[in-house]
Amino acid sequence: MRGSCLCGGVSFELEGEMRDPIACHCSQCRKTSGHYRAATAVPFDKLKVHSDSSLAWYRSSDYAQRGFCNKCGSSLFWKMEGEDTISIGAGALEAPTDFKIKTHIFTEDKGDYYEIEEGPEQLAKY
Ligand SMILES: [Zn+2]
Ligand SMILES: [Zn+2]
Repeated sequence: MRGSCLCGGVSFELEGEMRDPIACHCSQCRKTSGHYRAATAVPFDKLKVHSDSSLAWYRSSDYAQRGFCNKCGSSLFWKMEGEDTISIGAGALEAPTDFKIKTHIFTEDKGDYYEIEEGPEQLAKY
């Protein structure tokens, strides 16, 4: 499955099995994405980056970094230190994804301007 940032400076491909997206409502995800962030994840070696000319990383906490495009501002990746998986924002992927959001996490931190859909599991934290 292919994906890219808005300007195309960062493009990549995911191989193998991908989990259905987890939607995170924590304040960091809301700030970086502009809303809540839905992301799939793959083992790090299943992410094939074709272009990283504008890929930059921001250390958003002691334990994680966020990958984004420093030209168009797209929020793309989230990588926890010491883990061999990387999460990829579902909005960067090209349709059809055949994904369905499976879980909403950090719902206790959600924005006050929307309600979370009925159906998927909801976790107050994670
Ligand atoms: Zn870009
Ligand atoms: Zn989050």
